[in-house]
Amino acid sequence: MKVVKQQDIKLDSSFAEEIAKRSGENVFLCYQCKKCASGCPSRMFMDSTPTQLMRYAQLGMVDEAMKKNTIWYCVSCQTCSTRCPADIDIAHVIDTMRIIGQEKKLKADDNKLPLFNRLWMTMIRFMGRAYEPGLVGSLNFLSGKPTKDMALGMKMIKKGKLKLFPSFKKPFAMMKMFSRAKKLRK
Ligand code: SF4
Ligand code: SF4
Repeated sequence: MKVVKQQDIKLDSSFAEEIAKRSGENVFLCYQCKKCASGCPSRMFMDSTPTQLMRYAQLGMVDEAMKKNTIWYCVSCQTCSTRCPADIDIAHVIDTMRIIGQEKKLKADDNKLPLFNRLWMTMIRFMGRAYEPGLVGSLNFLSGKPTKDMALGMKMIKKGKLKLFPSFKKPFAMMKMFSRAKKLRK
């Protein structure tokens, strides 16, 4: 068995530096207290916890951070950011990881997650609010299962749990906001 000496281990800080440059957040302040993970409402669906994600960022473990479903199951609720004793805006770090992943074309293990995110953002941009039947219908269609969950969706529409037709909320203001954000990013 090969013995790895401590002096042979080199940490790659470039991932953390890129996150810091884009988001202004320093992931090295994280001391693994787990308060972020314990309050996260999406935790049960995630492959790794937000705490582990911070460790991956500190150690430069890009693949572990990007290929798991964690960054895609984050709903940006900010609970972790408000709980963090080190004052790290973790939700912002995760948003930044999503952007880096998309730009570098790093594929998540589950390809549907980035697609869901793109559809969601497009819907919000042009309609100003979510339209669940349209979102799920497009996701299923584009992932080759057009009839998936259709019976359940119809039942929910009949019971008034889902709206058949979309509604719009200030779509022009939302489009303006998206184009301003795009300009700022450039
Ligand atoms: S709450 Fe903050 S310090 Fe604690 S594990 Fe999460 S990121 Fe790290
Ligand atoms: S912002 Fe994301 S990671 Fe943080 S608590 Fe909410 S869902 Fe979890």
